[in-house]
Amino acid sequence: HASRSSHGIFLPHLVASLEQVQQTYIMVKPDGVQRGLVGEIISRFERKGFKLIGLKLFQCPKELAEEHYKDLKAKPFYPKLIDYITSGPVVCMAWEGVGVVLSARKLIGSTDPLQAEPGTIRGDLAVQTGRNVVHGSDSPENGKRETALWFKEGELCQWTPAQAPWLQE
Ligand code: ADP
Repeated sequence: HASRSSHGIFLPHLVASLEQVQQTYIMVKPDGVQRGLVGEIISRFERKGFKLIGLKLFQCPKELAEEHYKDLKAKPFYPKLIDYITSGPVVCMAWEGVGVVLSARKLIGSTDPLQAEPGTIRGDLAVQTGRNVVHGSDSPENGKRETALWFKEGELCQWTPAQAPWLQE
């Protein structure tokens, strides 16, 4: 449905993203795996109250990395980015929840870890944009697209966490 911000700017995406149950694709990048940060990163989304619906350790083939980052193909750092993402195993995750796409981006922090706020994953755990430990989808559309790209249908699990009534009225 249509909504306007206090400035009268048409922002259906933003409003929808705060109200709807969404899926987002989160990935611990190879540096996060090598540095032993997998548990720490999973914990942050778990403690927030989102629902884990997919999880695997995975060596990403070059073709998949290229598909995932196809919008960045023209960037000067693109070849290095593909080398980085395929340099070792990643941990693929799909998380579900109300407003999870935007919220996960806030938990992750700015792309450049030196600009990322303390308290965010990148702000607390990384120093360089080219080694920023984690990926998170940037829109509800990409949340769906990336979840479908990295997981086969049978790999996702629909379940009701015991804590559900303690998270939402
Ligand atoms: P985000 O991951 O925060 O959504 P982008 O979509 O802009 O950021 O970029 C995707 C990824 O490409 C970044 O997380 C980072 O790993 C890499 N990247 C972006 N900009 C640079 C850069 N200037 N130098 C090296 N790597 C970069």
